[in-house]
Amino acid sequence: NTRILLASRPDGEPTADNFRIEHVPVPEPAEGEVLLRTIYLSLDPYMRGRMNDAKSYAAPVELGAVMEGGTVAEVVESRDPSLVPGDIVLSHLGWQAYGVLPAGQVRKLDPSRAPVSTAVGVLGMPGFTAYAGLLEIGRPQPGETVVVAAAAGPVGSAVGQIARIKGARAVGIAGGAQKVAWLEELGFDVALDHRSPTFKDDLKAAVPDGIDVYFENVGGHVWDAVLPRLNTYARVPVCGLVAHYNDTELPPGPDRAPRLMQTILTKSLTVRGFIQNEFVKTHYKAFQADAAGWIADGSLRHKEDIVQGLENAPEAFFGMLKGKNFGKLLVQVGDD
Ligand code: NDP
Repeated sequence: NTRILLASRPDGEPTADNFRIEHVPVPEPAEGEVLLRTIYLSLDPYMRGRMNDAKSYAAPVELGAVMEGGTVAEVVESRDPSLVPGDIVLSHLGWQAYGVLPAGQVRKLDPSRAPVSTAVGVLGMPGFTAYAGLLEIGRPQPGETVVVAAAAGPVGSAVGQIARIKGARAVGIAGGAQKVAWLEELGFDVALDHRSPTFKDDLKAAVPDGIDVYFENVGGHVWDAVLPRLNTYARVPVCGLVAHYNDTELPPGPDRAPRLMQTILTKSLTVRGFIQNEFVKTHYKAFQADAAGWIADGSLRHKEDIVQGLENAPEAFFGMLKGKNFGKLLVQVGDD
């Protein structure tokens, strides 16, 4: 078995030294457990937070422990009547080629329904994040303007397309011409490159009626450009702040918190953070049905960026934090 452990905690940008690759015997399942073989490992921005020894909504990965992560895996051996060898399951094995889990902690997938990789993408956690955050907090109305950054990623691309499905205007922000072209192909009304020197003015021109919903995925200079364009009663689902995950200190002053609070007050903004889990009970069923329908009728499309080999997971993960991925980032660990 090959697995990747957290060897040390990063100070700022993570590096290869923060991980250690290890080869150990394949574990054996006990009664009620299954032995799983990883097919796809999902790489997600939240993993950067798990590398820190800091209190957050989830516990950090311990030093010397296998890095955490969602996986699509095949059952190799089952000691539980609910699963048989050959079943494909959504699981949380982390960064390893094989692992053992209680059968109750995995969910069987139906490969005839959708490609199994979508269980960690458009039909899984990222797609659900977009759906619940946008519809429950953003509440886009027909004709309103919705803006989203990291728009070529699995969360952002779904946010923009769902906004369009709900009759809103979608403005997507991404890094580079290729991603911008893909957003246009997806039907975003406007797509902008946040790396362009004219980005701030481009955004202003793209939202002549202001912004009603800003789905916050990144923070940083994108948020600075968005804030003055928000309309009265605008909604800001705060989903992620990937531009800041490697920060080691606050930006230099002056302290802009008072101005931010003043804008929230005078424009009657709703700024609401969320972790997708909170909506699972109330929205997961509707998401599964809606997303399946939208994928079938072509209104919700997605892109995957598949890296080969578990040993390449760290590099791919570093790249994602800088925008090198184009679509949902997956590591193909074993054959499907
Ligand atoms: P992505 O595949 O979109 O990867 C992150 C992207 O962020 C990069 O590809 C890059 O795209 C963009 N980015 C990085 N740095 C910057 C920057 N400084 N300025 C602007 N854009 C930047 O990831 P996901 O779709 O999986 O996740 C998107 C966001 O949603 C993340 O913040 C993540 O943490 C959050 N999230 C939150 C959840 C929740 O429950 N609250 C659940 C799932 C995800 P580009 O090339 O366009 O710059």
